This record gives sequence, C-alpha cells and structure tokens, in this order.
Amino acid sequence: MAGIEVTALHKRYPDGTVAVDHVDLSIGDGELFVMLGPSGCGKTTTLRAVAGLERQTTGDIRIGDTLVNDLPPAERDIAMVFQFYALYPHLRTRDNLAFPLRAEGLPKAEVRERVEEAARLMRLGPLLDRRPRRLSGGEQQRVALARALVRRPRAFLMDEPLTNLDAELRADMRTEIKHLQGELGTTMVYVTHDQVEAMSLGHRFAILNKGRVEQIGTPLEVYDRPASLFCAAFIGSPPMNLIEVEVAEGKLRSQDGLVLTPPPGLPRDRRLVAGVRPEALEVTEPGAERSVPARLVSAEWLGDEIIYVVDHGGQDVRVRMPPTVRFAADAPVGLRHTGGPPAVYDVRTEELVA
Ligand code: ATP
Repeated sequence: MAGIEVTALHKRYPDGTVAVDHVDLSIGDGELFVMLGPSGCGKTTTLRAVAGLERQTTGDIRIGDTLVNDLPPAERDIAMVFQFYALYPHLRTRDNLAFPLRAEGLPKAEVRERVEEAARLMRLGPLLDRRPRRLSGGEQQRVALARALVRRPRAFLMDEPLTNLDAELRADMRTEIKHLQGELGTTMVYVTHDQVEAMSLGHRFAILNKGRVEQIGTPLEVYDRPASLFCAAFIGSPPMNLIEVEVAEGKLRSQDGLVLTPPPGLPRDRRLVAGVRPEALEVTEPGAERSVPARLVSAEWLGDEIIYVVDHGGQDVRVRMPPTVRFAADAPVGLRHTGGPPAVYDVRTEELVA
C-alpha cells in the first residue's frame, strides 16, 4: 500500500486547454480521498495522470516512494474503476475476475484463492457462473470492483463508478465501497461531481474548480467553513445563502436588518458576504423577537423537513425547518438567524475572511 503525492501537476492539452493548473495533493496511505467538482474542473484528467493514462505537461506524481512520472500504467501497481464497467461479455464472472491474474501469469491455485476472496468481499458467490448480460447494473459494477480488488493493488482509482446506477443502488454501493476500503485499508482516490457522495464517502476531499484546488478538508471542515464563495455555493443542498452584510457597532447585519452573530476577526472597510446555512435560519410569525419582516415565496415539503424560500430584501433566502412548522404561501413572515457565527467572505477576493 502507499500514499500518493501530486506536486504542481499541470496539464495543458494540445489544443491549449489547461485542464489541471498546478494542483498539489497529498493523499495518505490508507486514506479514502475524494476529488469533487463540477463537470470540466479537471478531476478526470488528474486521476488519469495518476493512473498513467495521461501524461502531465509538468509536475510530479509519487506513489509510495516511487516517482512514477515515467512509468507506464501497468507498472504503477494501481487499479482503476470507471463509470462504465467494461466487463468481458463472453466471460462468466469468475473468469472476468481471473482474467487480470492469468494475464500476470499467477499460478492456478493462487488465482482461484484470490477470486474467491474478492467474491466473498463483494458478495458475488451466487453470481460467479453468470455472464454480464445476466447481471443487473449494480451487480456488474460489483464485479468490476471485485476485478480491481483481485489484483491487490497499492491504490484504487475510481472515476464516478456509480453514475449509471439508480439512487438506491448508488447509496448501497457507497456504503459497500466505504466498508470495503476500511476493511482492506487500501488508499483510494474517488472522483465524483456529487457532493453527497463526497461528503459521505471521503475521509477528506478536495474541491476543484477550473483546474485548481479550491479547498481540501474533512467533510465537516468543508461544510462548516467553505474556503471560498465557489465552495460555499457548491456544498450543501440547498447550499449556503450568500447575504451581503456590513459591520456596524460590533454587529453583523444585512442591508435589510437581519442580525447575525459576528465571528471574531472581521476585517473592516471591505464589502462582505455572509454564508448562512439554511438550517441556521428560522421563519417566524411576523414581528417575532429579533426577526426581520420577510415574505414567504414558496415551501418545498420533503417529508422530514421543509425548505422555505423567503424574500428578504429582494433576495431569495432558503430556510430549513422541521416539517411540523407550516406557514401559508405568500404570507408575511419574519426571518431570524439562530445559528452561530456564519462564514464571512470578501466580495472582491471571494475568499473566506472570518
Ligand atoms: P467531467 O466530470 O465532465 O468528466 P472533469 O472534471 O473530470 O469533468 P476533465 O475531463 O478532467 O474534467 O476535463 C477538464 C478540462 O479539460 C475540460 O475543459 C475538458 O473539456 C478538457 N479536456 C479533457 N480532455 C481533453 C482533451 N483530450 N483535449 C482537450 N481538452 C480536453
């Protein structure tokens, strides 16, 4: 097993597109590390460079103690799982699993032993004699994962492996992958554009934007304190409300009078935006203590919660409330901040300042 160090990785495609712009990543031995970001932010290119499927323009990649810049994929001792399963259609599950081991020339007994172990880990026992067309999408993906496992690589690289599965299966497979990674303790780099996947899977994750790393942290760190307005708008469902605020008499307030708990170390003389999580706000009866007048625009009932949209000074603000609280549509209401200090951003630099 091995950690992965990516240093100043830069990739410019022949047509001039800069896909990866001086990315640094330090992934620990045994860590499940997620790369998250919108389409085109450079996740796949970074992963393919680590795998050796794409040659970087500049920068270094180390797997364990080995500088792998010049090593072909087969010599990097990693296994990659893609969104498309790419199983051999004419082979039964057991032979799909055995294929990479036979190609390496391992003795028969060892091939059998490894196939059995991977089948046990991925619970494929009853499927060993079926061909891919008789497997569901989720089962095919489990075979694809098992085929990566049998090689016992130093690291797994996964590129949106669950994208083609329906929501329920995706959630199951997520749990399975996390469990498996924990059991094997093999370093894993997992690429996704799905923040829920990143939050629930990753020990840590990196948010990429336009080829650059915007933030690296644990799910909790990133959720609590997104490092930039980009991260603030990307994480959370719905994401943070971004409300322009000013500091007056030691208080932090919006132009329309919503008072927020000020964080320490607020800079002066700058235009500021507060990132306020929907669960840190409350819709109240009009005129309630510490509330400002607002108008209810819409309510989305999700079973275990309601997302209210209220108009606050011409801006739609989203508020997460328990489903027991109901307000009539279009009613005058109050809006109140109930959480701790919000994350505060400089409007000009778009970076977190307090
Ligand atoms: P997605 O989630 O859509 O796969 P991504 O974050 O993985 O996106 P990449 O596939 O790494 O992003 O692409 C990063 C940028 O590089 C994009 O602007 C993409 O259009 C560009 N790109 C990717 N491959 C090539 C290529 N072979 N030639 C030129 N540009 C490319």
